[in-house]
Amino acid sequence: MVNPFESAQRQLHLAAKGSSFSNELIERLSRAEREITVTIPLIMDDGSTRFFEGYRVQHCSLRGPYKGGIRFHPGADLDEVRALALWMTMKTAVADIAMGGGKGGVVVDPDTLSSNELERLSRGFVRALYLNLGPQVDVPAPDMNTTPEIMSWMVDEYEKLTGDTTRATFTGKPVGDGGSEGRGAATGMGGYYVFEALQEKVGLPAKVSVAVQGMGNVGGHAARIFVSHGHKVVAMSDSKDAIYNEEGLDPEAVEKYKAEHRSLKGFPDVKMLTNAELLELPVDVLVPAALENQLTEENAPRIKAKMVLELANGPTTPEADEILMRRGIKVVPDILANAGGVVVSTFEWEQNIKGEHWTEEEVLNRLRETLVPQANTIYENAEALGVTMRIAAFKVALERLETCLKS
Ligand code: NAD
Repeated sequence: MVNPFESAQRQLHLAAKGSSFSNELIERLSRAEREITVTIPLIMDDGSTRFFEGYRVQHCSLRGPYKGGIRFHPGADLDEVRALALWMTMKTAVADIAMGGGKGGVVVDPDTLSSNELERLSRGFVRALYLNLGPQVDVPAPDMNTTPEIMSWMVDEYEKLTGDTTRATFTGKPVGDGGSEGRGAATGMGGYYVFEALQEKVGLPAKVSVAVQGMGNVGGHAARIFVSHGHKVVAMSDSKDAIYNEEGLDPEAVEKYKAEHRSLKGFPDVKMLTNAELLELPVDVLVPAALENQLTEENAPRIKAKMVLELANGPTTPEADEILMRRGIKVVPDILANAGGVVVSTFEWEQNIKGEHWTEEEVLNRLRETLVPQANTIYENAEALGVTMRIAAFKVALERLETCLKS
């Protein structure tokens, strides 16, 4: 298994190679400013106590407060959180928003907890970490298996502990509890705006076929957004199965079926595939929207998509990046493609601090205006330098971070 933190560091060093970025900057970004490991005691519904390990990695605050999601996952570990935090620093710089990078995780399978236990665990995470969080310090958000409801519990616990009533310490909250219009769909929407900006340049047809891996917050919204713009989503998957229909799927019907049956098995008129097979389908656009390390040196030679739109974090290993580049497949890197989530999170934070509530139209317009120019610049730089869009995006981020370091 590829260590995601080693991948992130390799990407950083590759982008710095042959450039004039200062040693100080690269050394700083190779490690986190602060890493916190906590133990969260959880009283279970049966009265017993279990202990869960949690992390918050505060990678870089050169451009603003640490910003990044909290993941609840049985496979979460410190190196994964370190990688995700480093990518957040790059992502906020690519999007040119005044935030730094951080990430959190709890080693837990939330499906094994009752709703009350999940609430107590979420509140316990905040009790363990609240002295290191705050609107101007560190502003977490949702990630895998963490929902707007969990953000509500967390912000409520933070308010109880500190008396801070801005609700600006956590983003991704439900609308009506300090959340922003458009946040739920923001990562998928941002990815779609980036796709649209690059579609013609990459030589894709006006209407594309798409395979989406993962149908959680990010993948589910992305599938619906592509279809609502007239494209064809031919494959979708959850953690166990993938389904494929060359004629196209109705993402809403797929999600409804999954909610009712808790599985994709038995969905009508589709071919059942594995997740690995989904990745190798002959589509225009492949959208990994689940986990890290999905495109590797093993399967990269067989990928048939013309564009990989990385809505997951870290789905492509550095070895796969090289193979895909050689094969002329455009990989739109996570730090650009999925930046919509953190951009709208930052809008939410700003609305909380100013006591404002923006309309969905305003949020989406601002999101598009934020991401499209960055997508264009990164594409043009990549072409001019003959490098991957990931390296070009890292270079743009490093330039902005260097400016902050020097000022
Ligand atoms: P989620 O928990 O809502 O959904 C995750 C999805 O991945 C589910 O459909 C799950 O079934 C699927 N999945 C889990 N294990 C899998 C496996 N082994 N193979 C295939 N599919 C699997 O999480 P999310 O918020 O949609 O996050 C998905 C990805 O997007 C993560 O990499 C996350 O870091 C990234 N991301 C999320 C946001 C956000 O705003 N939520 C923002 C930027 C990036």
